[in-house]
Amino acid sequence: MKIMKFGGTSVGKPERMHEVAKLIVKDKEPKIVVLSALSGTTNSLVEISNSLANADRNTAKQQIEALEAHYQNFIEKLVKTEVALASAKSIITEHFEFLHIILKISFSEALNKDILAQGELLSTKLFSVYLTEQGIEHALIPALDFMTIDNDDEPQIGSIKVKLAQLLQRHKDRTIFITQGFISRNAKGEVDNLKRGGSDYSASLIAAAVNASVCEIWTDIDGMHNNDPRVVKKTVAIEQMSFEEAAELAYFGAKILHPASIWPAQFYKVPVKLLNTLQPEARGTLITELAGSVGVKAVAAKDGITAIKIKSSRMLLAYGFLRKIFEIFEKHRTSIDMITTSEVGVSLTIDNDTNLPAIIQELEPFGSVEVDVNQTIVSIVGNEITETKDVMQQLFNALKDIPIRMVSYGGSSHNISILIPKSFKVQTLQLLNVGLFGLE
Ligand code: ASP
Ligand code: MG
Repeated sequence: MKIMKFGGTSVGKPERMHEVAKLIVKDKEPKIVVLSALSGTTNSLVEISNSLANADRNTAKQQIEALEAHYQNFIEKLVKTEVALASAKSIITEHFEFLHIILKISFSEALNKDILAQGELLSTKLFSVYLTEQGIEHALIPALDFMTIDNDDEPQIGSIKVKLAQLLQRHKDRTIFITQGFISRNAKGEVDNLKRGGSDYSASLIAAAVNASVCEIWTDIDGMHNNDPRVVKKTVAIEQMSFEEAAELAYFGAKILHPASIWPAQFYKVPVKLLNTLQPEARGTLITELAGSVGVKAVAAKDGITAIKIKSSRMLLAYGFLRKIFEIFEKHRTSIDMITTSEVGVSLTIDNDTNLPAIIQELEPFGSVEVDVNQTIVSIVGNEITETKDVMQQLFNALKDIPIRMVSYGGSSHNISILIPKSFKVQTLQLLNVGLFGLE
């Protein structure tokens, strides 16, 4: 059994969906196909939800109508026969009736989750109609019947395994299963989700649950690249990397893979492949326990970072200082990404400043607190790079004109991170492309 997950752009146009259908019948291995919503849909649903939260029903109504028109156009090109078109139309009517009904009820967080779930429900059902029209046998298995999260939003892998096995058992004669990414049911039994971009996470959880031979993540680029292709001219796809390297890159900015999707695959030892629907023959990137090589493999950048420096002479020769500082962040459920210390100060970074005012207030009794917003973490990732000769020298040579605010070295043997003002990000990535990879 293998997992094939297709992202929003891979199903975002009728002709792309047709390509997906071709890809899933290419081999005979039983498979679970996990789909995202059509590209742009979840964003539109978020906007609809926001309008409703602001009690702006008129705007919400217009947004719902615009989205509905988009789907009407979509199905005209998706299917050919009258029968298929009628089924597709009734699916759209069903889901948009729901959206029109919610215009009349009062907004709540539970309703918001229901709204966000419509994208994946629509994409999978429409895809199923197309497969039926093409005579491709399959079974649509609802993610809401097996994908569950607990009170801390953690997926319940044990129960997912059992429920999914039962569902698959019910369709013993089938080898192609279609399901929704992203959506789940929470501890209260309500519709919920695995957070934005969570379809990758769904795929990897499903892969773990069925002990899949591989978890294929199909996007619109031929794998993880050595640098951000939107920022630098020449980048190359990485053929092989370890789960650790992938986790660092996904967490520190490589957009291709949701960071949470690494652990289930890693823990249950399922290889992950990043593949390109626009170029199915391309090798892509293989992620397993093995890194395949040593040395620098890629750089990634993560924006929206806030740096906090706490300076205190009380830290001098004292113990327990860091624990007290960390406790404040823990209390406010804010995770720390980078940290550097000196004898009289500590600098750290966070990527979520929702609770920053409260955190600062509690830090102030410890010493002077300085905050810098709009920072970017640039991570240099590669197996054993901290043991690789000359990496630091190449790094500092390349970045001699960049104002580096923090450096984190040795936290793991495959990551070196630096903090810079966001305004220097493009220049930094370009300089590193030349300095570390010899590319333009
Ligand atoms: N459709 C969801 C989103 O846009 C989940 C996903 O595509 O991964 O966030
Ligand atoms: Mg994605």
